[in-house]
Parts: sequence; C-alpha cells; structure tokens
Amino acid sequence: MMEGDVGKPPISKYGRMRSPILFEEQVESILTIQAHQDDTDIACGGTIAKLTRMGKKVTYLLLTDGRHGVCDPEIPAAQAIKMRNEEQKRAAKILGVNDVKFLDYHDQQLDSSLELRRRLIGIIRDIKPDIVFTFDPWRPYEGNRDHRHTGFMALEAAGFAYDMYECPEKNADLQMVLEMYLFQPFLPDTWIDITDTIDVKLEAIRQHETQLGDKIAEIIKEKNARDGRKIKKPYAEEFKVLRRGFPWVWDGLEMESSL
Ligand SMILES: [Zn+2]
Repeated sequence: MMEGDVGKPPISKYGRMRSPILFEEQVESILTIQAHQDDTDIACGGTIAKLTRMGKKVTYLLLTDGRHGVCDPEIPAAQAIKMRNEEQKRAAKILGVNDVKFLDYHDQQLDSSLELRRRLIGIIRDIKPDIVFTFDPWRPYEGNRDHRHTGFMALEAAGFAYDMYECPEKNADLQMVLEMYLFQPFLPDTWIDITDTIDVKLEAIRQHETQLGDKIAEIIKEKNARDGRKIKKPYAEEFKVLRRGFPWVWDGLEMESSL
C-alpha cells in the first residue's frame, strides 16, 4: 500500500470501492435515472455491462426526449426524438439492458418539482431497485439544467421511496434503495475496473450516431484510461457513492474523496 492510500479501501478485483455491495448477491436490480439518451452509456456503460454479465437486472429511465441533440432544421423534433430513442435502445441492448423507459419531458426544460419527485417515487416502487445511478447534481460549473435537475430529483425520489407519506396512492409497496452511485462526480470515492468491458462500452457509445458516437467514444476511452491510472488498471469509471446513514439520510461524508 502506498502512503497516499492510508485509510482508503484496498484495490479489489472490482476496483477501489467505498462500499462493496454493488457486485454482491444481495443486489439484484439497478436503476439508472438519466436526462438524455447517451448519458449512462458515456458515464458508466462499462459498469453497466459488468452488472448485466453477472445476471443483475438493469433498467434505464430517461427523463427528457433529447430533441436538442439533433440540430438540423430539416429534421422535425418528432423524428429527432425517434432517432435518439432508437440509438439508446440499440446501445442499451449491447450493454445487456433490455428495459428502457422514456418519460419524454421536453429536452432542456426539466425542473425540480414535487410532481416529478412523486412520479419517480412511483416508478422506483414498481421497479424496486437496490441501487440507483444518476448524475452528481453538485458538480461545480454544470451548465446543463437537465443534468442538475435529474440528479436532484433522483436523489430525492430514491431517498424517500421508503416513506409512506410520499406518493400515498402507491404506498402498499415501499422500497428502500440501499445506495446511490453518482456519475460524473465532483468528489469521486469509488473506481470500478472496466478493463473487461471497455470494448463493449465503446461499441454502445458508437450507436449514438446523431451525437458523433465515434468521436465521443475516443474521448471517453481516454477519460476512462486516465481514471484507470488512479487504481493502476487500464480502464476505470469513477463515482461518488452515497450510503444510508441514520436516520436514513444519504451519507457521503465518511471517506476523504480524492486520491
Ligand atoms: Zn445529457
């Protein structure tokens, strides 16, 4: 162990993790709550592929329709949305994800609201994820409003899906989400080794042709190689992990959050 590693979790076969439960048997279902059609594939497609290969069920939930991703006056919005949704379904399938849900809020007009929070709580109670992935809404200088609001609403909904006073019309089926994985984190504390799934991740990203997937795949490959060097592996994805503290609040403060 190097001097800078004192107090940090050791590097295991999965990487360096604040909490090991993601890959354990008790976690059967994972939900990613994302703003746009390529967000999860880019941020954590390698981790998603590892999870589905282990037989865990992963569901994608997309909040906006992604229409702003196609800036061509010849292509009507309805067609742009359809193109992007098809790209997402193809990419998800490559990563082993067959359940992709679209809520179709207008791209770049997402707001934090009690209505959205209630809707997400209802969906979480239906899907019953043990762990939820989403954006880190506290990332400084994040200018994409959909990313910020998606992160905040996902955190609130996953945090309170166990609470019978929330969404009372669906309170027969309360759900305790165990952990949150925040992607594109400001203060990462978990690095997953994706060396065995980087190729399939890049293939998924390439499906997003409207987003110049080939070019993005090269950029992401370099980024994952940089993150891999932090745990001495060829490729890694990084996260901030929040666990349940007492009384059931998200606790992200236990560990120093940098290498
Ligand atoms: Zn996005």
